[in-house]
Amino acid sequence: MALITKKIKGTEDVLPKESYKWQFVEKIMRDESRKFGFKEIRTPVFEHTELFARGVGQTTDVVQKEMYTFDTKGGESVTLRPEGTAGAARAVLEHALENEGLPIKASYFVSCYRYEKPQAGRLREFHQFGIEEYGTQDPVADAELICLAQSIFDRLQINQLRLEINSIGCPACRAEYHKALKEYFEAYKDELCDTCNSRLEKNPMRILDCKSPICSKIAENAPKITDYLCDECKEHFSAVQSYLDAAGVEYTVNPTIVRGLDYYTKTVFEFVTDCIGAQGTVCGGGRYDGLIEELGGKHLPSLGFAMGMERLLMVMESQGIQIPDADECSLYIATMGENAKVKAVELVAQVRNSGLIAETDVIGRGLRAQMKYADKIGAKYSLVIGDNEIEQNSAEVKNMTTGEKTTLALDKTFAEKFAVLQLTANDSFKI
Ligand code: ATP
Ligand code: MG
Repeated sequence: MALITKKIKGTEDVLPKESYKWQFVEKIMRDESRKFGFKEIRTPVFEHTELFARGVGQTTDVVQKEMYTFDTKGGESVTLRPEGTAGAARAVLEHALENEGLPIKASYFVSCYRYEKPQAGRLREFHQFGIEEYGTQDPVADAELICLAQSIFDRLQINQLRLEINSIGCPACRAEYHKALKEYFEAYKDELCDTCNSRLEKNPMRILDCKSPICSKIAENAPKITDYLCDECKEHFSAVQSYLDAAGVEYTVNPTIVRGLDYYTKTVFEFVTDCIGAQGTVCGGGRYDGLIEELGGKHLPSLGFAMGMERLLMVMESQGIQIPDADECSLYIATMGENAKVKAVELVAQVRNSGLIAETDVIGRGLRAQMKYADKIGAKYSLVIGDNEIEQNSAEVKNMTTGEKTTLALDKTFAEKFAVLQLTANDSFKI
């Protein structure tokens, strides 16, 4: 039989056997951001197109080439979110959260949609974990945000990431810098790619972000933003560095980081790796003091970061980090005969009510096939019930790793006794 269709190019399925990896990483992200006082925000997967056009920026690749935009039946132009920041900012404004006290601190998990050329680490539907903070211009907030990202990586035991930071200044000092960049790149006009030629006029800083080898080679000797920062931006950047030093976070200053979205000001940073190929940026973030005004709000300096979940999982895999599977079955009850089946239904319910994972046969397989299944799902214990066990009202619970057997009564105390048994034997299963 031929499948009527397959998944769309650039999308991925997370299958039941691997979803525990996502859940493990997500749990740590939730846990760490909670410690820093962030609470989750959930916004719609699509928004009015103008939100991203204004919020992400007209001159960005995302808005110019990558958005999934379509007209609804009502004739409105809507776009599947290419990132999480604009939607979160829209929600903050719409609900006037600034009236509830500052700073506003939000975290999110989102699926994002960008029409890009699919390759390893670059998808058309991908997932981000992100953080947004509104209402502070203090550089200590920038440093704290970076510390949060670092503490997530530490908890996940990822050590093949380096932190690179930069300041891209404010609109005032950037105007000077743009002039200098334009002058520099004009001389290479014939060698730059077509996209960069169009960037030359509108936003020459974007050229620094070009992935083409020729453009990045030319960009190597371009003027550095750090030489053009105004006093306020310079001071801000050096304060961020002192706070990072105080927190013991290691970083390097990389003056070529500009980030792909237009809304950034002052601090920008990336966590980068060399171990997953060309798409090595796992986390990107920084400050966007002008974003809220751009979207029609009052001046509300803000900052945030986003991590690509798929790339993060790729780094963990390449580093050989073993993620514990919390979903392994604690007890498999195999049955022989109808009476045993009834008893098993009663016992698995008891065990599940005690908070453990229990399974029994639901296909009507023979005993051997049932035990093969118990092995396949990695059941830690098994129990076989037949007419004899029912008659004696007891059965042997077998530890599938050691083979050790313990007799338990098949009555109301079963789950309680089983819980004690597996707890004493399996301390190492806890995450
Ligand atoms: P890149 O330079 O790799 O295109 P970006 O600057 O477009 O990244 P951001 O918009 O800052 O990325 O998104 C934050 C993070 O989301 C990235 O660091 C990356 O980990 C992830 N990401 C971005 N685009 C994709 C994609 N198409 N597929 C998978 N992950 C992505
Ligand atoms: Mg991109």
